Amino acid sequence: MIIDQNKIDETIKIIKANGGHGIQKCVQCGACSAVCPGVKAGFPLLCRALIKDLLNGLLEENIENSSSWGCQACNRCTEVCPQGVRPQEVVFAFRRYQANELAFSTSSVTSQMNLYETGHAVFTDPKEARRKVGLPEETPTSAFNEAAQQEIRTLMDNSPMGELGLF
Ligand code: SF4
Ligand code: SF4
Repeated sequence: MIIDQNKIDETIKIIKANGGHGIQKCVQCGACSAVCPGVKAGFPLLCRALIKDLLNGLLEENIENSSSWGCQACNRCTEVCPQGVRPQEVVFAFRRYQANELAFSTSSVTSQMNLYETGHAVFTDPKEARRKVGLPEETPTSAFNEAAQQEIRTLMDNSPMGELGLF
């Protein structure tokens, strides 16, 4: 692989600007990948592997990779990292870069639209199931509260997500 120092510098600058401040402290020990449920589930470009690519300046090359959307934000990687890299923040920094370039996975667009419309990223109509077990059909959440939904929409419209023109 040809080392392009300008690409490396630009990639690190972008990742740090998006919150991945510890990326350069990584020593590639792999402790984060060993505990990552996303890696175990088959998303290869998380934790150590993602950081390795980014430290080699491979940013645009990975823009369509969906692994970052498999991160569960569990922060196990952060707990075990001996270097204080906070790998989850690097993953999210990369994900923010992808989002800013509109490189979303289909599932993440769906969850954002659900969040905008109901206040829940994952939502299925609960009425029938609740009726069967004798519970009130509507949950006491934003899903059935128009005022709360409006507040969530206002927040999202005024967030960086709103600037992407998805809603
Ligand atoms: S926070 Fe994300 S990257 Fe870190 S261990 Fe959990 S799933 Fe993996
Ligand atoms: S645990 Fe920390 S130092 Fe080790 S590979 Fe992961 S981010 Fe790098």
